[in-house]
Amino acid sequence: MSKKHAFETRMSHAGRAGTHAHGFVNPAVHRGSTVLFENCEARRDGAAKRYEQFMTYGTQGGPTHYALEDVIAEIEGGTRATIVGTGLAAVMVPLLAYLKSGDHCLMPDSVYGPARNLANTLMKGWGIETEFYDPAIDEAGMAALIKPNTKVVYTESPGSHTFELQDIPAIARAAHARGAKVLMDNTWGIHTFMPFQHGVDVSIQALTKYVSGHSDILLGSVCVNSEEDWQIVRSTASLLGQFASPDDVYLALRGVRTMPLRLKHQFASSLEVARWFEAQPQVLRVLHPGLPSHPQHALFARDFTGGCSLFGVVFQPRYSIEDVFKFINALEFFGIGASWGGYESLALPTTGFVTRTAGTGDFGGPMARIHIGLEDVGDLCADLAQGLTKMG
Ligand SMILES: *Cc1c(COP(=O)(O)O)cnc(C)c1O
Repeated sequence: MSKKHAFETRMSHAGRAGTHAHGFVNPAVHRGSTVLFENCEARRDGAAKRYEQFMTYGTQGGPTHYALEDVIAEIEGGTRATIVGTGLAAVMVPLLAYLKSGDHCLMPDSVYGPARNLANTLMKGWGIETEFYDPAIDEAGMAALIKPNTKVVYTESPGSHTFELQDIPAIARAAHARGAKVLMDNTWGIHTFMPFQHGVDVSIQALTKYVSGHSDILLGSVCVNSEEDWQIVRSTASLLGQFASPDDVYLALRGVRTMPLRLKHQFASSLEVARWFEAQPQVLRVLHPGLPSHPQHALFARDFTGGCSLFGVVFQPRYSIEDVFKFINALEFFGIGASWGGYESLALPTTGFVTRTAGTGDFGGPMARIHIGLEDVGDLCADLAQGLTKMG
């Protein structure tokens, strides 16, 4: 198997043991705290081998984790990945790996809410200053924001809830010219945005979303593309006691085999539903990077090879957020819940959830976030149509 093979083929074959594990197709679930060695010399000398580098205790992971690490590195196009307990832990580990007291961090105003909260609470208390910037910033704008003590430029494209795209290569050029690392939350763009080809140093994934695909586990990954970054990220995850249950890791390995098909289908369905929304009189605009009407669609066309099925809808300003509640409450097939990427559709009012401090938060009306699952698009649109009639 090599990079020239299609994504579907690579996801069917990555992270498998061949015939070494009794010939079973899937890796075993290795649960364990203690790791035993034949003798003391083997324990001491084990440190030289790749997979035994950290493996003297269960917290360092085992063969089930390594299988998923390999799969994630394959998806992201990086050299190595580490698996952590949640997507939020995957946000935290590289931030704490590259920042220390007295440092400055830049985060987009559209960043995932809990990442903003981390910056404003614990990181602030530890003497790390975070400044929020307009996600649509260009190279010169980013260059002007970077200070001598800026160590991390954090990115997320498209942004949580509001779906602004970022010019990642331009931001990375400005950051690297001034010695800052570029971290990216690439959860939305899994597989369709190749972070390391666009200048990202560390890519964050909430595997909770499409890799799991079934809304039943929480898991995260941090992927890098150099040995230097690997040492920093892996040792920080280890110092912070990060661990994921091998049972959950097994479920992620099971989920990822069908991810290419689910992503392709759900992305296509989401575009159909997004276009349907655009034609409804109650709707002011639809925030889906794959639509030509998205203000940064050109960046999407340049940098992405596809997408996922999460997007935003802005209703006409004559509606209140309570009207949006009425619409969502009336839906039969859309669950009211946060964690997307599963096989089922979701709808969530987002006005009031979105915190902005860099003046980039006016979208013209009350908003909802829609996740499209594997249901039939006709059934979904019929359900949405009856929901819209309840808005008043
Ligand atoms: C869900 C999500 C996370 C966090 O993942 P959890 O596993 O739920 O902690 C991080 N970033 C983005 C963009 C997300 O949507």
